[in-house]
Amino acid sequence: MILIRLISETIKKLNIKGKCICLHSSLKSFGDEIEGGVLSLINVFLDYGCTIIVPTFSYKFLINPPDEKRYKKNGYNYSIKIDESNEIFTTSSNEISRKDMGLIPYTILQMKERIRGNHPVCSFSGIGPFASEIIKTQKPMDVFAPLRELALFNGYILLMGVDLNRLTALHLAEQMTGRKMFIRWARDTNENPIEIECGGCSEGFVNFNAFLYDVDKKVLVGKSLWRLFSINALLKKAARVIQLKPEITRCNDEKCIRCPDAIAGGPVLE
Ligand SMILES: [Zn+2]
Repeated sequence: MILIRLISETIKKLNIKGKCICLHSSLKSFGDEIEGGVLSLINVFLDYGCTIIVPTFSYKFLINPPDEKRYKKNGYNYSIKIDESNEIFTTSSNEISRKDMGLIPYTILQMKERIRGNHPVCSFSGIGPFASEIIKTQKPMDVFAPLRELALFNGYILLMGVDLNRLTALHLAEQMTGRKMFIRWARDTNENPIEIECGGCSEGFVNFNAFLYDVDKKVLVGKSLWRLFSINALLKKAARVIQLKPEITRCNDEKCIRCPDAIAGGPVLE
């Protein structure tokens, strides 16, 4: 059993009481049950005055591109047809790609006080004192605005037992070096098709381990390795590395169509 007291002590040790934190997590990584379950774990952070931000992506709202839109270098296979859902995304929807996102984002999304960002596919959600200010910056064509806002709050990113391929903020680092994010499509609340900005492939992000090992604080909680990054330090270092070594973001899959396009600078919007 992972005791709540241990989670509480870890938050104190990491010195993140009252801070804004973007969480990426795997509950399996603890190797044991958490006392009181996932809600107790979330509540320890909230009781310490933390603001928690999580990715609550919902891929079911993707639709096919309009016929006239064929952006080049968009990391997209235009010959594949999506089976479109009739449902429409709103910020009060609790729809989430649960298997990809995990139980903590799923649970936060069900909480009454949570705030969800305005992005049909790649929304972030938050809970806690500054959640509204951070999350309300998100727009369909400004997917990583909440992470930029988190940086203004001198916030943190906490990886709970997951590797850097879950670290969405590295896409923001790519954007900071001038790469354009990929364009996908969804419907707005009036059911009209809109363009939305989405991050690309994250599998190559594990390559950053060689450069980010001294940017994080590491601590073991049960069997779960927690890695805490100041988002500002992370973005500064990662953007520098991408500028010097653009290939760093490339994954191992030779058939990946997103990585080469991202490295080439992203979609040509004309
Ligand atoms: Zn890839």
